[in-house]
Amino acid sequence: MELQTYIEYLKNYDGPEVTFMEVCGSHTAAIAKSGIARVISPKIHLVSGPGCPVCVSPSGYVDRLIALAKEPETTVCTFGDLLRIPGTEYSLNEAKGQGASVEMVYSPMDVIALAKEHPDHTYVFGAVGFETTVPVYTVLLDEMLREHITNIRLLTALKVMPPVIGWLCDNGAHIDGFIAPGHVSVITGSKHFEALSRQYGIPFAVTGFSPKELVLGIYGLLRMWEQKEELRQQGDSLTKNFYPSVVTTEGNTIAQAKVEQYFEPGPAVWRGMGEIADSGLYLRPEYAAYDAGSRGLDEDHKINKACRCDQVLMGKISSYDCPLFGKVCTPLSPQGACMVSSEGSCYQRYLNR
Ligand code: SF4
Repeated sequence: MELQTYIEYLKNYDGPEVTFMEVCGSHTAAIAKSGIARVISPKIHLVSGPGCPVCVSPSGYVDRLIALAKEPETTVCTFGDLLRIPGTEYSLNEAKGQGASVEMVYSPMDVIALAKEHPDHTYVFGAVGFETTVPVYTVLLDEMLREHITNIRLLTALKVMPPVIGWLCDNGAHIDGFIAPGHVSVITGSKHFEALSRQYGIPFAVTGFSPKELVLGIYGLLRMWEQKEELRQQGDSLTKNFYPSVVTTEGNTIAQAKVEQYFEPGPAVWRGMGEIADSGLYLRPEYAAYDAGSRGLDEDHKINKACRCDQVLMGKISSYDCPLFGKVCTPLSPQGACMVSSEGSCYQRYLNR
């Protein structure tokens, strides 16, 4: 079928109202930029879920990074987005303005050079991310071990997708289908979502980020949703891979083994949602010397009481429904986590409004 045929189908859909959620910050950005929501039937609702790793990191995590950055002979290094995310009182950027030692880096490997140059100084890397990013941290750990570098620690806020998707399904999110994250699936394989689609009877479409791939993924999701009873009766999977150029069923097994070597699952707090069992990844006890105290960072604080990030992250409301959106809360004056990161749904809605 031609792309135009898929678009026509989505445009002319007149069945029951359906809500599809994307759970990937890059999908949030790609969907907002493409304008797809304005082209398809108003009966197909596209909502954003907790797909931005920076947005879902709790304020207790930011507070801990700030406390470390204030310790003598210690520097906190991390990616740019994390510098602006609010903690209980202020962000890492604001803490830097008050004298805390904070450095923005472009890659975790940049810390290796710093640590070698200043062996008496401690570097703490603020490691956030989902299944996509975790293998990068295993490369950093490999290098630290190989080079016998002992002055780098990781403060992790690493998360995995299936437990939070299960949590959303169990907590009344009313999602009819998920646009499964393409980048995550490169590492985990499309099989990562099989158990969820079976348990909840909800379709998952793994897809890419170009407008064409998004149209194909949303069309595939709608068709699976329309035929789900039939598919189930035939024993067919409700997880389909529409991104076969880079995603396989099994994923990158070498990266998976590396992650398994260094990390183990544990409970994690998601901003706005609270603690979700087994949704975090933590350094295994044998690597505890490299951990800067990542477990139990559970404080979850709102900088503005009217901020509705929690409901936005659960797909219960759109950013437009927040009374602060575009008025008090803008990318230059973010009042909540979803407006801070470029992968946040409020940020993207604001840019593409
Ligand atoms: Fe929070 Fe701002 Fe989004 Fe409202 S618009 S939910 S205040 S981030």
